[in-house]
Order: sequence, then structure tokens, then C-alpha cells
Amino acid sequence: MKSYEHLYINGQWVAPIKGGTFESVDPSNEKVLAKVAAATSEDIDLAVKAARKAFDEGPWPRMSGAQRAVVLRRIGKGIRDRLQELAEVEVRDNGKPLPEALWDLGDAAGCFEFYAGLAEKLDENAETTIALSDDRFRSIARKEPIGVAGAIIPWNFPMLMAAWKVAPALAAGCTMVLKPSELTPLTALELADITTAADLPPGVLNVVTGLGKEAGAPLSEHPGIDKLAFTGSVPTGSRIMQAAARDIKNVSLELGGKSPFIVFDDSDIDAAVEWIMFGIFWNQGEVCSATSRVLVQRGIYDRLLQRLEEETRNITIGNGLEEGVLLGPLVSQGQYEKVLEAVVRGKEEGARLVTGGGRPSHLDKGYFMEPVVFADVPEDSWVWQEEIFGPVVCIRPFDDELEAVRSANDSRFGLAAAVMSRDTERCERVARALRAGIVWINCSQPTFTEAPWGGYKQSGIGRELGEWGLNNYLETKQITRYD
Ligand code: NAD
Repeated sequence: MKSYEHLYINGQWVAPIKGGTFESVDPSNEKVLAKVAAATSEDIDLAVKAARKAFDEGPWPRMSGAQRAVVLRRIGKGIRDRLQELAEVEVRDNGKPLPEALWDLGDAAGCFEFYAGLAEKLDENAETTIALSDDRFRSIARKEPIGVAGAIIPWNFPMLMAAWKVAPALAAGCTMVLKPSELTPLTALELADITTAADLPPGVLNVVTGLGKEAGAPLSEHPGIDKLAFTGSVPTGSRIMQAAARDIKNVSLELGGKSPFIVFDDSDIDAAVEWIMFGIFWNQGEVCSATSRVLVQRGIYDRLLQRLEEETRNITIGNGLEEGVLLGPLVSQGQYEKVLEAVVRGKEEGARLVTGGGRPSHLDKGYFMEPVVFADVPEDSWVWQEEIFGPVVCIRPFDDELEAVRSANDSRFGLAAAVMSRDTERCERVARALRAGIVWINCSQPTFTEAPWGGYKQSGIGRELGEWGLNNYLETKQITRYD
């Protein structure tokens, strides 16, 4: 493995001022994968100053959207050219199966290409004439980049979460300091290399690896940041918001979820089982929008559970680089222990363990666990209400539509939800009644770069992706002239 002991600041690879490193561990064998540069507040200060200078004096915000698009497309191509290699790095760093990593990396490249398309249209859409009630005045509204953005991202989709923030910010003409998760820092550093090769001007993107308290906190508190874009847990999101409050920074938050999936009894049971499994076992269930609470109408409850049990027992668990593996290890020892504790807690709370929860017998090292199906889960239990962020699905029966919607909405989260029925009118009605930012009908998890992504309630503030994602990084200015 190559060295990851430098930070990417102002287009240069520099050692952290205090010289610190932390270890990134391969969750499939518990061995150290790489030593990684540990930034502290002094490095963060340098990175923010570089981004500020690039914004105030550099070419990037002054280039046309079309010129920025050329560089964004080169970054997308840079990812595609190294897709296999980057996907393998991501498997080693995160644990996910290789086909999933390849999918994520392709999506990350697609995200840069999509925002290149929006950047090209930005100039023509940037100014609109306002119809005023007083014809002595003329007004236009125009969009301008918000300034220096600080991005802090989690470990579940390392490159993709970086792309969701870096691509729209750069398209808008912002400059950025990106801090990846300390659990999966490697591909963000590779992205820095790709941006150099794409001729992104120095200082426009700075990548600082480090721990949450040592690098994330000083980034969120830095007065030189105009906008904070955060994806991660609710407690950290709350800290970010408090830090942003002091200097009135613009903030967008993509936080956790406990997303419901309602299955009505006219559904095809095999299709339902397939989508339930995709909704909770993809990426080891370490997915913010995972449909981890499943409500099944009583008429098909027992039959569906039986099919789900059979299919869940058949999942191939192992090292994500091995062919045919569908479930890799959890990302870290901490996450592994958290999920195992949740399983114990679920049993104590009266949930019925249908299958899973143990270590697979053929794997004696690594953070592997058999995927879990809990049935008859009490509605007021911790496992029903709180995000577990692992391969654990909680299921309970319901009798009618009213009960299903009430139960689905009974959550402090509101990121995503899904509903399944052959009755499309019912699906559409339920979709509108669900209090969530994303609702899927007859499926779970398909995610499109073109469509808005974000949560209601404690699942966050603001929307990423699509034109909404671009607007996150734009200010609106009014110019009014008296003739
Ligand atoms: P986390 O909150 O522990 O960490 C996220 C990032 O914040 C990391 O880079 C971390 O270093 C940093 N951080 C930690 N403490 C900090 C502090 N005091 N100040 C500033 N930064 C700090 O979250 P995680 O465990 O990496 O990710 C899992 C969570 O992310 C889950 O809750 C999941 O639902 C959520 N998530 C949400 C989305 C979404 O789109 N809504 C997507 C992916 C993950």
C-alpha cells in the first residue's frame, strides 16, 4: 500500500504540522491497512486559508460555468479510469463487497459528470429579471457561489459521499476543505490526486484527514468557512450546527434514519422479500436510508417471514474482494460491537430473533456477523426506534392502512420510507402521507443523482443532489437600478 501520510493543501502534499498519524484498519482481517496523516487545528487553518485565497483571488469562481464543467468532467473521467483500483481500495478500507464498491465509484464519477452539466447551464440561469410593482426600478436576481465550504463526511460510502459535496460545490464556483471519516480516509486522498491531474487550480479543493475532535471540530468552528456541509450521525450533526451558530454559517445536514417499509398483503411476497433484503443488507445495512423498520400486513406476515428467513440464511458472507460475497464485515470494531449490543438489546426487549446475530463459523477474524431478522418487535423498543446501522431488520405486523402510516411516522427520523402494494392508488396516497424526504413505491433504495436527497425531522436540514444540491452552494443576490 502506498503512503497516505500527507494532507492535500493548496495543491501540494504536506506533512501535518504536528506530524501525527492514525491507522486505518482493514475490517476483514483487523490488520492495519495504512497510516494516515492526522490533521490538527493548525493544518485546518492552513487548508481554510488556502481555500479562502483560492476563492478571493484565484480563477475558479471567476471562470464561466462551462469552463468549470471541463475540469469536472476530467475529474469524473479520472475516477472512471481508475475504477477497479479505487473500488479495491474502498473494499479494503470499508469492507463492502467489490461489486457494490464498483457501483459506488461509478456513481461518484457520474455525480461529477452530472454537475458538469448543471455548471454548463449555470451562466444562462444565473440571472433572472424580477417583475416589480414600481416601473421606475429594474431588478435582477442572480446566483453567486457561497464562498468557502467545509465538508465533513462519514465512512459508509467514502468516495460517493465526497462526490455528493465536492461536485456541486465546485460546479457552483466554491472552494472547499473536505474532511473524510477517519475510518475510511483513503479514497478521498486519491480524489485529491485525481483533481490535480484534472488541472483543478490549487486551493480549490483541500483534503484533510484526521479525527473528528482534532480535525472535524476545528473545521466546523473555523471563522473562514462560509458554509458547512455535513453527513453523519445526529449527535455530531447537532455539534456542527452549534459550531455553525456562532458565526452564522450556512449549514446543511444529512443525518441518520430509521426508515419504514410498509408491505400490504396484495404484494408479491418474493418481490417484497427481495426489496426488503436490498433495503437492509446492501452495504451491510450501513446505509442512512436503509429500510430497517418493516411493517407487514397481517395476511402475509408469517409467509413473508418464512421466505425472508430462508433467503437471509443463504447470504454469502466474507471478504468483499472474494467473488460471490454479498455481505462484508462491518466497518470497524466499534461499529461491530455497537451492532452486536443492539442484537442483545433487541432480545431483551422482547423482539423475536428469527435468524442471525452470530459470527459466521468459517470466519474467525474480521468484523463479520450473520444478518439479523427480528420479528414481532415492540413499537416502543429501542431497536424499533433507534438507528442500528448494521444488517439488522426489525419487523412487525399491522392491520390496516391507517395503522401502517401512523406507525411508520412514529419516529424522530424522516429520511426515507417505502411502500409496496399492487394497488398503485393506495401507494400514491400512502407516499404522500409519509413524513420523509424520500419515498419509494414498490422498491427500496434506488438513488438518482438528478433527484433531491435529504430528510425531515432529525434526519437533517436541506437537500443534496440534483439542482437542489447545487443551490446548497449558491447565494442569491438582488441588484436593483433606478432609471
Ligand atoms: P459520525 O457523526 O460519527 O462522523 C461523521 C463525520 O464527522 C466523520 O468525518 C467524523 O470524523 C466527523 N466528526 C466526528 N466528531 C466531530 C466533531 N465533534 N466535529 C466535527 N466533525 C466530527 O457519523 P459516522 O459514524 O461516520 O456515519 C454514520 C452516520 O451517518 C449514521 O447516522 C448515518 O445515518 C449517517 N449518514 C447519513 C447520510 C444521509 O445522506 N442522510 C448518508 C450517510 C450516512
